[in-house]
Amino acid sequence: MSRQLELTPQRGDALLLVDMQNDFLPGGASAVASGDQVIAVLNAWLARFAAAGLPVFATRDWHPAQHCSFQTQGGPWPPHCVASTHGAGLTGSLHWPSGTQIISKATVPDAEAYSGFSHTDLHERLQAAEVTRLFVGGLATDYCVLETVLAALQHGYRVVLLQDGVRAVEVQAGDGKRAIAQMMAAGAVLLEG
Ligand SMILES: [Zn+2]
Repeated sequence: MSRQLELTPQRGDALLLVDMQNDFLPGGASAVASGDQVIAVLNAWLARFAAAGLPVFATRDWHPAQHCSFQTQGGPWPPHCVASTHGAGLTGSLHWPSGTQIISKATVPDAEAYSGFSHTDLHERLQAAEVTRLFVGGLATDYCVLETVLAALQHGYRVVLLQDGVRAVEVQAGDGKRAIAQMMAAGAVLLEG
């Protein structure tokens, strides 16, 4: 089977979009530079999965107001994605199919969770949907995408990383590239375009 055929979404596949929330997009409280450049790419993937009747999952940061990751609490990030605020909302620029399953993470004050599998029922929901392979895009490459992909591989899923559907924070220049290399070394397949 050709590589291209193998990478066509099929039964057993799900699309997993990481943290496509207002606060991580330009204008948001903790914006990823050029994060909006993934919108058109991910809308094309959403349409592809919806047309094929394949499941779509969306993770979201869903923090209490005093979350430990906030600079106000001694953490590394500006306050962002406080539960039920506009900033925590999934962006309306993506055409979410009805039936999109939303996974909230990092919901307690004293624990950070970059991975969508961390203290959530994502694994159980994927198993219930008989998913074995994840197509992953979203924000940000070097944090929540990285940790979600590594956790997915550890749980035994195959992972296709959508290269044009992710963007990095780059606290240090090159963090995005290093994160992609780390995901590929762990077994993720990189899909260009
Ligand atoms: Zn967060």
